[in-house]
Parts: sequence; C-alpha cells; structure tokens
Amino acid sequence: EKADEKCRISRVDVVLGRILGEGFFGEVHGGVYKSHGTGERIPVAIKTCKVCLSDVKEKFLSEAELMKNLDHPHIVRLIGVIEVDPVWIVMELYEHGELGKYLVEQQDILTTETLSLYCLQICSALAYLEGLNMVHRDIAVRNILVATPECVKLGDFGLSRYIDEQEYYKASVSRLPIKWMAPESINFRRFTTASDVWMFGVCVWEIYSMANQPFFWLENGEVINQLEAGVRLHKPSLCPSAIYSLLTSCWAYKPQARPTFSQLVCSLSEIKKIEMKKEER
Ligand code: ATP
Repeated sequence: EKADEKCRISRVDVVLGRILGEGFFGEVHGGVYKSHGTGERIPVAIKTCKVCLSDVKEKFLSEAELMKNLDHPHIVRLIGVIEVDPVWIVMELYEHGELGKYLVEQQDILTTETLSLYCLQICSALAYLEGLNMVHRDIAVRNILVATPECVKLGDFGLSRYIDEQEYYKASVSRLPIKWMAPESINFRRFTTASDVWMFGVCVWEIYSMANQPFFWLENGEVINQLEAGVRLHKPSLCPSAIYSLLTSCWAYKPQARPTFSQLVCSLSEIKKIEMKKEER
C-alpha cells in the first residue's frame, strides 16, 4: 500500500535526542529527521517501546497504523515508522508540548479569544475524524500538543478505532478516563462519535478552566451517579455563555440528542465571529 511505503523510514536518517517525556510504552525523545526527498532537516518526536515483544509491538504500532491515513492541520503528523527492533514511531515535533501544561504555564497571558481558537481547531480535527468514521476515545488537554501559540494538534491515537456505521467500539481496556467519559461509555463501554462529542465538551471545559481536572471533587466511582442525577460541570469563568450552552448540549444524556462535530464547527465559528465583533466595538 502507498501509505505504508511512504511511512517506512530508515534509522540512519534519524538522530535521537533528549528525552521529552514518558509515554505508555516507553520514553519519547526529541530528535531530527533528514528527509530523503528534500534533504530537509525536520525536528521530530520519537516514540520508543521499552518491552517490545510481538503482541506489545503490535499494540504500540497500531497508533502509527491509524495515523498513516490521517492528514489534517490540527492532527499530529506522523513522519514515519521504523518497524525493525528497536521499533520507533517518528512524529513531527511540537515544541510547546502538552496543552494541559501549557495552559497552566501561560494562564496569565492567554486570552479568551486564543482559548476559543484552540477549541475550534480541535473541533475541526474531530469533524474530520467524524467524516472518516473514526472514534478517538481519549479527547483531553493531556492529548493535545501545542505547535505554536496559535496552533494546537490533536494527538494520542492509542485508543482510536475505526467504526462501521451504526456500530460502535466496545472497549475492553480498564485504563479508561472515567471523568471525561459519556454515561453510555461508563455504563456499557460504548464508544461512538456521539461519545466523542461528550468528551470534546469536557475538553473544552478543561481549556476554559486552564486545565483544571474535571470532577476533581469526586472519586471515579461516584461520577456515573452524579451524571445520572443530572449534575454537569459548571461554567468556567472565562467561558463565554454561548459556548457553555453548546457544552450542555454535548452533555445531553441521550447520545442522539448531542450535536455532531460538523454542527459544532459551525456553531463555534459563528460564536467566534460574534465575539470578534463585540471586541471591535
Ligand atoms: P499515554 O498513553 O500515557 O498518554 P503515550 O504513549 O500516548 O502516553 P504521549 O502522551 O503521546 O505518549 O507522549 C508522552 C510525552 O511525550 C507527552 O506528554 C509529550 O510531552 C511528549 N510528546 C509526545 N509526542 C510529542 C510531539 N509530537 N511533540 C512534542 N512532544 C511530544
């Protein structure tokens, strides 16, 4: 397959640099990749796999496998994969790191307009995935990277799956982000684009609250009762009311009652225009 060939790269073209962070499978390093076609030197992030036996290797590489087919300005870009031991996944480097940490560090200088821009960018990435029938399942600020102060990228496709129409992905993993999850995901491990919409709502809440932990006052085991009693996250003070009203629609108990990502892109763009006009006055 074409995408496969394009993504196989050679280790001699990669220089491994300092450790950036700890991933689920192993350390993530910074580095440089020398492109064959153009000779260009591209700053990269290199995911390594510590104990890479065959079934672990398959899981590790499944994230890259999904990313090979994705091409969107607000989704982390895969550069290539080295499939022989030690296995590496090479991605474009986003030097400002995780959005969660960035929000905390930059909270004094970030404006509501910038936060709204991030929300719209992530929403457009998710509308793109919606069009591909792909569910992400782990939408949170810890899984978004900051490329520039004006550009964020959705990453971490470790839990993503393609789903057939009408179908849903039934998860078996126990490492689930309960406080971000829709009621049907908690109750029945049911994951669909509609449950991604719920999670996106929680992620937007995180963004406007400068990376507060959703439901930090609850234990994981208490969350579902609260949701079923109708309790929802409150409006962060920086969140415009029009956006909070969208969030409450993302948190409709019934999945069918939630908006789609393409509808959300339209609504968020409209709100952004109105907010910008207010600014001008
Ligand atoms: P987990 O499943 O625990 O989220 P993971 O295996 O998916 O881990 P990541 O969270 O994607 O690993 O990566 C670990 C850390 O490496 C991140 O927190 C981030 O700081 C850094 N990192 C990963 N990818 C990039 C990138 N493309 N650019 C810059 N930093 C990155």
